Amino acid sequence: MAAFVDVIIPVPLQGLFTYALPVSLQQQAQAGCRVIVPFGNKRSTTGLIVRLHDTPPADPDVNVKDVMEVVDEEPCILPSQLSLWQWIADYYVCSIGEVFKAAMPAKLRAPSQPPRGGALMSSGVPTETDSPPRGGWEGATPTLSTAQAAALASIKAGWQTHPVCLLQGVTSSGKTEIYIHLIAEAIAQGKQVLYLLPEIVLTSQLTDRLQAVFGDHLGVYHSKFTDAQRSRVWHRQLSQQPFDIIVGVRSSVFLPFQRLGLVIVDEEHEVNFKQQEPAPRYNARNVALLMAARAKALTLLGTATPSFESYYLARTGKYALVQLKERYGKVQLPRIEIVDVKEQRHKRLMNGAFSQRLLEEIRAALDSHQQVILFQNRRGFAPQVQCHVCGWVPTCPRCDVPMTMHARSGMMTCHYCGYTVPVPSQCPACENKDLRQHGFGTERIEDDIQKLFPEARVVRMDLDTTTTRQAYEQIIHDFAAGQTDILVGTQMVTKGLDFENVSVVGILSADTMLNQPDFRAFERSFQMMSQVAGRAGRRSLQGTVILQTMNPQLSLIKQVVEADYDAAYHEQMLERRQFAYPPFTRMITVYFKHRQLATIETLAREATIELRQLLGTRVLGPDEPPVGRVQNLFIRRVILKLESRLPIAEIKKQLLEIRRKLLMQKQYAAAHIYFDVDPL
Ligand code: ADP
Ligand code: ZN
Ligand code: ZN
Repeated sequence: MAAFVDVIIPVPLQGLFTYALPVSLQQQAQAGCRVIVPFGNKRSTTGLIVRLHDTPPADPDVNVKDVMEVVDEEPCILPSQLSLWQWIADYYVCSIGEVFKAAMPAKLRAPSQPPRGGALMSSGVPTETDSPPRGGWEGATPTLSTAQAAALASIKAGWQTHPVCLLQGVTSSGKTEIYIHLIAEAIAQGKQVLYLLPEIVLTSQLTDRLQAVFGDHLGVYHSKFTDAQRSRVWHRQLSQQPFDIIVGVRSSVFLPFQRLGLVIVDEEHEVNFKQQEPAPRYNARNVALLMAARAKALTLLGTATPSFESYYLARTGKYALVQLKERYGKVQLPRIEIVDVKEQRHKRLMNGAFSQRLLEEIRAALDSHQQVILFQNRRGFAPQVQCHVCGWVPTCPRCDVPMTMHARSGMMTCHYCGYTVPVPSQCPACENKDLRQHGFGTERIEDDIQKLFPEARVVRMDLDTTTTRQAYEQIIHDFAAGQTDILVGTQMVTKGLDFENVSVVGILSADTMLNQPDFRAFERSFQMMSQVAGRAGRRSLQGTVILQTMNPQLSLIKQVVEADYDAAYHEQMLERRQFAYPPFTRMITVYFKHRQLATIETLAREATIELRQLLGTRVLGPDEPPVGRVQNLFIRRVILKLESRLPIAEIKKQLLEIRRKLLMQKQYAAAHIYFDVDPL
């Protein structure tokens, strides 16, 4: 019987924590079981046993505390998950405690009223085996077109030599139908499937499509489910009858899979696969690739517009590449028409955010009972309020950003920290009452278009209107059922949604995307514009896209119009090679945060000196990010560009060491230093 356990505690401190096991608990304790332990000044917290042993800590002064309770009678994670967590902690340079915290539904981590052992394994598991047998889905799976069948065969052939295949299929080529065939085959062989999506709003349409074929073999997992629902899915995945297919967003890579055979990453180029905040700042696509490799499962990355990194790996032979170039039913890709906003403004032909051409197309669509999608990459009413007399602009008191006005609520909100106050009735600086709104957010687009087309049914889809699962499901359902004429939205409307009757898509301003200070701005803009264009004309008639921009001369705009992905890729790759950006290097951004401006500046400078000693000219900075203060913390950053031949794992260890030493200095004790590996 072991006397000690090493435990993961959900905190940002490196390493495991050793506790003594009282004799009464030695029988029950196993690796993978949760324990209640005393920790810090908190009376107790829930940890997870990693290993049992008999070695007391080497340092005799360490006062080893006792485990208070073992929660589970059986492990609540699989050994493969534990090693995945460790990999994530090492790769993304965070603590395994942070991974634990992100991985498990809070209910499974909470110290209050833990479910008792026996119940754990059985909850959520159907009492009778009433699921249909695995197979017999040929009434329900669609017959593939010739092009789709050829792509399916190529994917399978690709997997003979490469465990990862990239499927580049134009929008509405029927990639989902191909996935359905592959899923059916995998589960007929007794394998489990993970189907990753970048965005919660996509799950409802997709779940309907997959449920029609696979019924209750399918489980759904994402953050808009309650914690109890997510815990149920978790337990079921540990049971004798787990779901064969899990559809979910990025956190579903943390679920237990007992016999994973196929991973599908849909819209693999999406930035949303990356968790930005808090740690672990992981990319679920990359974690899924690793999980699949470890389980010897096959992986399919699908998209119309691959991330340039994935396309590079496919072109250099690391992935198999399959291309599907025609839309299902041989419908033509939409016709994209450019509107030069500068010129139209000059001629006074813009009506607010709308060009005459866009309004004509909307009119025509409404007259022929077709639908319209309008894409504007900013939520709220106006991104900026300004005093017409003295130029005063309301900014967030905690962050260095202007407040966005939300007209419905009469409030201004900071989109970085959520700080919200009423819009003032007069300028606090000069008391002038003429406060003007600049720019167009989705709320203003919605209002303006409703005024121009009073008879049209207009609905908006953005973060503000989709706070609940019911809300976004309703929006998608109504639009699919033809109960809405015009859908206005942020990037949420650009993703893989499938509607029959959309004949017109308006991209209101390409420029907000193009002007991002990021080396990926053009790649993203290409992807976003091609994707939103791809929502048009998906069934029979060719769709029309009106692309409004102040930069019609850019080659990228031409590449979008001509749907010339390769040209966009090659042009950007030239620049990335020249300036040593990914995929030619790996990037790590080091962030420094502190309440005092002077402290953050010396800390960042001191850290940079240390980093240069280790990495020389591969260290860029320190600099101030575009938003230099968020929630009262000043931010500085340093960018590391590392050639892939460097011993990256070793470098990461040294980064932790540099951080440890810096934070030990008294003046930096309250600072935050963290790493963003492969930032997006
Ligand atoms: P993608 O994911 O490539 O954008 P989808 O899988 O959403 O495309 O397919 C576009 C539309 O065409 C969907 O409504 C889908 O049901 C339909 N479709 C595609 N392939 C077939 C097929 N083989 N039989 C019937 N309908 C199909
Ligand atoms: Zn003023
Ligand atoms: Zn703020």
